Amino acid sequence: MLLIHPPQVRNCEPPVALAHLAGALIEAGESVSIIDGALEGFLWLTSLEAKDPSDRQAARVRRNRKRILKFETEIYSIDRYKKRISDIKLMASTADVSGSDQNRVTPADFDSEILSPLKSADLTHSWNHPEKNYFFPWFSHRIREELIDKKHKHIGISIAYISQALTGLAMCGWIKKEYPQIPIILGGSLINSWIKGPSPMDFLHLMADEIHHGEGEKAIVEFTGREYKGPGTPDFLNLFDRIDTDNYLSPGRILPYSAALGCSWRRCTFCSETYEQNPYCEKKPFLVTAQLKKLTEKYNPALIHLCDSEISPELIDELIENPPGVDWYGFSRFLRAMTDLDYCRKLAASRCTMLCLGLESGDQEVLNKLKKGIKLEIVSKILKNLREVGILTYVYIMFGTPAENKTSALKTKDFIEEHSEFISFLNVSIFNMPIGSHENELVDSMEFYEGDLAIYRNFNHPEGWSRGMIRQFIEKDFRKIDAIGEILKRTPPIFTSSHAPFLFKLLNK
Ligand code: SF4
Repeated sequence: MLLIHPPQVRNCEPPVALAHLAGALIEAGESVSIIDGALEGFLWLTSLEAKDPSDRQAARVRRNRKRILKFETEIYSIDRYKKRISDIKLMASTADVSGSDQNRVTPADFDSEILSPLKSADLTHSWNHPEKNYFFPWFSHRIREELIDKKHKHIGISIAYISQALTGLAMCGWIKKEYPQIPIILGGSLINSWIKGPSPMDFLHLMADEIHHGEGEKAIVEFTGREYKGPGTPDFLNLFDRIDTDNYLSPGRILPYSAALGCSWRRCTFCSETYEQNPYCEKKPFLVTAQLKKLTEKYNPALIHLCDSEISPELIDELIENPPGVDWYGFSRFLRAMTDLDYCRKLAASRCTMLCLGLESGDQEVLNKLKKGIKLEIVSKILKNLREVGILTYVYIMFGTPAENKTSALKTKDFIEEHSEFISFLNVSIFNMPIGSHENELVDSMEFYEGDLAIYRNFNHPEGWSRGMIRQFIEKDFRKIDAIGEILKRTPPIFTSSHAPFLFKLLNK
């Protein structure tokens, strides 16, 4: 089985979903290889000549390609780090890819100026005309090479993000033309959201032999005609070794791991885990720590990324008891246990370097309406405790929910400003109304993006708190506050939370 991760998403760590699928396939006796297009496709772009030979900046980054793509093991200066990121972006954006449509590409994203991944007609066009895809010269060569070498009888393509959809379907269309005898299974979280959404998806069923949504391990094993024997241990095969920069685009080797599917809380009104009613399935915590130790010995990572929507409280307790022996980070809720300083000390001793924490609002009334299940006085105590023990915090806030108005947004600003010395990084976003959420029925909503596959809708805010006003508020009233501006300045661009833990030493000096 050949598993393909299409470009382009953050290429600082291998695709976790494919490593878990590979584990189940290997357990069932299947031989597997993985093509990680997010990294390989991007490295191919950076290896091309510049489209304008007289562009001196493009020539400079090409001369220094190897050095620019190889990060130091820690981020010691945020300014030097930002310069490197802008050089990497420049290398990709100035590449001479002849014959393809107009595109915008970064190490984390891909966007066509002509085709939209939110239109079924454009996705069908991409499937029918793979030769027009930006990554075509790379993927046609790479997939052919892999199929000749390994003689795979099945192919799985995983599309998790919108930025992968056009290229994923172009790859699918090319394989169908060149290798019609090889069956293809198409899955991934974006496919899951589309299948569960309101749009007819008949066109997709014509493109591959099987369209799968939901948990993928059992389905992919059965697709090969083998018997499912359990999830096995995630396997990264030779993903960490096959590339010419010694590593993924990261200061250190990041090993991603999923301990659960879904979220154990599953109540926040705006979250896809709630409105898609995704089931919550978790591995036994003792099994997770045992696998993490095994994977750590095998791959020697600098950092473990726990990719769950929310690391369960039971797993955090188990990580404290049985730490993996290497730095780790992930998403957590503000857990009451963290109000105890001793508990946080134990968490730090387990080598938890950073927690990503969804605060969303600094107004308790808004939090109650969003069903976050957190109290601001507890949040305040936890942020202070985590700072005290040296665990970095990546705090997520969101303006413009139907429950918020300008007064509550100002409360959020005040809360962040008052806690600025305890917050390491910030993610600031504007609320998008998910097409399937319950809130959609309570407000006056309309199409947001052009496209029959849109997963968000625009809406008239019940209190007139429009997107334009929110943008202005963020620029003028929020970012301009010195203490908040400082946090935003040190928050890594492009790779954001994936690279933030590598600022650990710099911020704990
Ligand atoms: S805790 Fe996080 S993942 Fe869980 S429902 Fe709330 S926002 Fe979603």
